[in-house]
Amino acid sequence: MEALIFNIQRFSIHDGPGIRNTVFFKGCPLSCKWCHNPESINREIDYLYNKGSCIGCRECERACQYGALTFGEEGLKWDRDKCVFCEECIISCVNSAIQFAGKYYDVEGLIGEIEKERIIFEESGGGVTLSGGEPLIQIDFIEKLVKELKARNIHVTVDTCGAVPFNHFERIADYVDLFLYDFKIFDEYTHRKYTGIGNELIIDNLLKLDRIHKNILCRIPVIKGKSDKINAVDENMTNTCEVLKNTDIRKVNLLPYHSTAVHKYYKLNMEYYEDMSRPSDEEMERFRKMFEYYGFEAKIGG
Ligand code: SF4
Ligand code: SF4
Repeated sequence: MEALIFNIQRFSIHDGPGIRNTVFFKGCPLSCKWCHNPESINREIDYLYNKGSCIGCRECERACQYGALTFGEEGLKWDRDKCVFCEECIISCVNSAIQFAGKYYDVEGLIGEIEKERIIFEESGGGVTLSGGEPLIQIDFIEKLVKELKARNIHVTVDTCGAVPFNHFERIADYVDLFLYDFKIFDEYTHRKYTGIGNELIIDNLLKLDRIHKNILCRIPVIKGKSDKINAVDENMTNTCEVLKNTDIRKVNLLPYHSTAVHKYYKLNMEYYEDMSRPSDEEMERFRKMFEYYGFEAKIGG
């Protein structure tokens, strides 16, 4: 059994307690316009090409024995159907203009990578965070992995968007120390407009998960459009508080929008939705106080 993973980020300090390894799984049922890991959305290996670093030498094209690369006026074109992922093109490129996102791991191989940092986990109170994309869509692998991590006494955090069948949570809840649960937008129409799907399942799963797991931290990205306020409005925050007050969740992180992922959209040849901005510090503080008013321990940032 293998899972498709696009990054293992070591020394991570924002995805759970202590110093952690964050493992990013490919594939997501949502396609949020502000996604800062756009290479996570597709459940297949992605090809990233940085046209700005390419000098047009065509070494990659010559290195490919399978005819998967053609170089033209628009730069490099990749044919997924012909590619065998031998990585000869990547090796041949002196400017590192090409990279893949996505590599298959079996549980043993991934545990081997994670175990390299065990001392750091133990000394910092850290562990492993499973993120993405949405890790729980690869649930058979995740179930096996979390059982193995628990058997090794490694702290497990799962970062989820919540849009998976509830039995995926039931299968792993006993082996997870902390869930980071994303609650993006309360209004169904706005949620669908900006993430690609409705939020009914996500809210329903959050309420059900709260009944079977007592350590959930809610994370809310806060995004303000230039022509549309998206979720940076008082009404959205109040409605979110009204949902959360019916749970035992007490900790909320408000994550202001940032645009650091723009370059990845460019390399993936994906369109970036420009009409987004970071709420002001005053707005963020006002939202934080609203959560505090409802009794939550609210923090700005991860
Ligand atoms: S990975 Fe191999 S097959 Fe795929 S484009 Fe590069 S050289 Fe060609
Ligand atoms: S080898 Fe690198 S620099 Fe040369 S054409 Fe290919 S991508 Fe561009």
